[in-house]
Amino acid sequence: MTPQTPNASIGQPGGVHDLVIDLFNALSAIKQLSELDCQVDDEAKLVKQALASLIQYQDMERCSFFMLDDAGMLTNLTGISVEESPQSAAVRDKPLTFKVGEGVIGAAAASGELQHCRNCAEDPRFEKTAAAALPGSLISVPVFTLNRHLIGVLNVSHPQPFYFTDWHIRLLEVYKNILGQLITTRRLVRQMERQIASRTAELETLVAETNQLKEHFASMSMHDQLTGLHNRRFFYDQVEIAIAQHARYHTSLCLLVLDIDHFKVINDRFGHLFGDQVLVGVASALKRQVRSTDILVRFGGEEFVLIFTNTPCDNGKAFGERIRQEISKLEWNVGGETVNVTLSIGLFCLNADACPGSLAPDIDEMINCADTALYQAKANGRDQLVVFEDQRLRGD
Ligand code: GH3
Ligand code: MG
Ligand code: MG
Repeated sequence: MTPQTPNASIGQPGGVHDLVIDLFNALSAIKQLSELDCQVDDEAKLVKQALASLIQYQDMERCSFFMLDDAGMLTNLTGISVEESPQSAAVRDKPLTFKVGEGVIGAAAASGELQHCRNCAEDPRFEKTAAAALPGSLISVPVFTLNRHLIGVLNVSHPQPFYFTDWHIRLLEVYKNILGQLITTRRLVRQMERQIASRTAELETLVAETNQLKEHFASMSMHDQLTGLHNRRFFYDQVEIAIAQHARYHTSLCLLVLDIDHFKVINDRFGHLFGDQVLVGVASALKRQVRSTDILVRFGGEEFVLIFTNTPCDNGKAFGERIRQEISKLEWNVGGETVNVTLSIGLFCLNADACPGSLAPDIDEMINCADTALYQAKANGRDQLVVFEDQRLRGD
């Protein structure tokens, strides 16, 4: 603590010197206060730092700050004294509280005016305070936000009665204004941070919902609603990749067009809804037969297109045959009748050594070739697989 002569004046010996020291200390306290970081997490921490700068440069024995809560109670937020006594530790364990209007601290809060108790022992507001806990003199000064809302009460005390002078009062008036501004700024910064965080969270939710919607629509636009298989749009997306891989890694691929035989008859005899059930059943069976790397789509109506990637013609033919047989084993019961379906399949194979861009056909040409083979299968009596045979297009 800096040695002080509180009642020093210019007329007394040493008065000018002491006043210069007082002035210097006051400016140092205010400078330190103005340099505090108002972005600290904890308001109590900020207040404690503010009180520390006051006590460091001023001859005050004890400072405390009573924060006003929503219930109108003033609670000792943080006490700081020159020596950390066991008593002050007790204060921290169970903080002292006052109602607005109660005692000197409550009076400062209720009136909005600084309260100065020159001699606490003779002040009636301290009647109930034990003599040992009684300070000699006390100043309680209310602290406000910039728009005049009470934040709490700043208190400074000294064991000696009649200790504080006008000098201390002026200093505390300036000090409580800066402290009020600091706390206001901190609260505004916190409020802004909360608003930004909640707005950011809202925006993140919106973005997530938009992405979900986007994915949903993207998926809808790539899927057939009845069977859940991919659709023609997906096929054209994926087939480019499959052909590019064929060109790059010299792998074979087989393209199959699969068409349900006499499907119109099923619709006509058992109704369109039953026809739908058959389509769903055939689609599920097809899905079970293919690998994840194969491309299977409902191309339209009762027609499906399948690409076996990285598969030579003989294997493609064998896989296609197996599929045809599996589909013919499916059964539906309708109106006491058992219904089966058969598939006709046209297969086009793009051999590993075919060269896309020159001799090899583009995708529509490939589909046409498979369609030609399918037409042949239908013409041959249906329920069979026909391989498209054209030396030039297959790259043999
Ligand atoms: P083919 O053996 O020559 O292929 O004879 P098909 O009867 O299967 O062929 P066609 O092209 O004459 O008839 C196809 C039928 O498929 C006609 C159409 O109403 C029906 N179809 C197409 N899409 C659907 C659908 O989503 N649901 C139902 N239930 N029927 C459909
Ligand atoms: Mg058909
Ligand atoms: Mg058809």
